[in-house]
Amino acid sequence: DDTVARIAAGEVVERPASAVKELVENSLDAAASSIDVTVEAGGTDLIRVADDGDGMTDADLRAAVRQHTTSKIGGLEDLESGVRTLGFRGEALHTIGAVSRLRIRSRPRDGDDSGTELVYDGGDVVSVDPAGCPEGTIVEVEDLFYNTPARRKFLKTTATEFAHVNRVVTRYALANPDVAVSLTHDGREVFSTTGQGDLQAAVMAVYGREVASSMIAVDADGGDLPPGPLEAVSGLVSHPETNRSTREYLATYVNGRAVTSDAIREGIMGAYGTQLGGDRYPFVVCFLEVPGDAVDVNVHPRKREVRFDDDDAVRRQVDAAVESALLEHGL
Ligand code: ADP
Ligand code: MG
Repeated sequence: DDTVARIAAGEVVERPASAVKELVENSLDAAASSIDVTVEAGGTDLIRVADDGDGMTDADLRAAVRQHTTSKIGGLEDLESGVRTLGFRGEALHTIGAVSRLRIRSRPRDGDDSGTELVYDGGDVVSVDPAGCPEGTIVEVEDLFYNTPARRKFLKTTATEFAHVNRVVTRYALANPDVAVSLTHDGREVFSTTGQGDLQAAVMAVYGREVASSMIAVDADGGDLPPGPLEAVSGLVSHPETNRSTREYLATYVNGRAVTSDAIREGIMGAYGTQLGGDRYPFVVCFLEVPGDAVDVNVHPRKREVRFDDDDAVRRQVDAAVESALLEHGL
C-alpha cells in the first residue's frame, strides 16, 4: 500500500542530497549545458534544479514520473531485501515524488511545444497543464519527507544537509567543466562555474583562487604506471601546504563516476607521505580509467564506495601517479 511505498521511498532517497544527485544526473543525461541548483533550508524546504537540456513533451512528462521497473516495492520483505539493491534506476522522479511535493516544468528543445507543467504530490499526479517556460526542464521538490515524519526526523541540521548537497553538486561541477553549474543556498550563490573552462577553472570557481593556484597536474597512463588495473590517472592535486582536516575535498572518479575507495585514498595519501601533517588531507580532483570488469561498484550503491579486484595494485598505481606529479614540482 501507499504507506509501505512511502517508507521504502524514504529509505532510498535518504536525504536532500540524494534527490539533488538524481536530478543533476538527469540534467546531464539530457545534455544540458547549464544546470542551476537552488536549495532552501539545506534542501528540506526546496530543491530546484533548472537545466537547458533536451526537455520533455507532455507525454514524456507523464511517463517520467511513472514507476518503470516491474519489481514494484510491494511489501515489508522488500524493504529488507530489495530496496537497497533496487536503487534508483528508472525510479528517481517517481520515488522522490512519493515523499515530496514535486513540480516539473519542461519544454523540449527546438520544438513547437510551448511547455508543460506537471504537479505531483505524495505519489499522485495532481495536474498536467500547458505552461510557458524556457527550453529545458525545471524540477522543484518541496517539503521533502513531509509525509514520512519518521524519515524527516532523521535529517540533520540545515548546515549538515547543505554540506551534503554542496558536496554532491561540487563533484558534478568538477567532473563536467564544460557544463555551467551553479549552486545557491537560501538566496546566496555558493559557486558557479562558467562551463567554458578546463578543470583548473572549475576548481577555481568552486574552491577559490588560493586552492586553484596550488594545484599540480597529475597525468599518468600506460607505461607511466606500475602494473595494475588502472589504464590512466589524471587530474589535479594540491600542494601539500594547501590542505584541510577533512577528507571531503578528495574528489575521486572512476570512469567518470564520483566514487570513494580506500585504495584510491590510501594511494593519494601515500604519495604525500609525511609532507601533510597528521590528519590533514589535500585537495584532489582525480580521474581514474579502468576496464569495467576490474571494479566492484556494489559495495554500497548509495555511497558509491568501490572496491577493485586488486585493491593493492590500485593503491600502488595511484601512489605512483601522484608521487611523480609531486616530484616534478620538487616535492
Ligand atoms: P532514469 O533517469 O533512470 O531514466 P528518472 O526517474 O530519473 O529515471 O527519470 C525518468 C525519465 O524522465 C528519464 O529517463 C528522462 O527521460 C526524463 N527526465 C528526467 N529528468 C529530465 C530532465 N532534466 N530533462 C529531460 N528529461 C528528463
Ligand atoms: Mg535519473
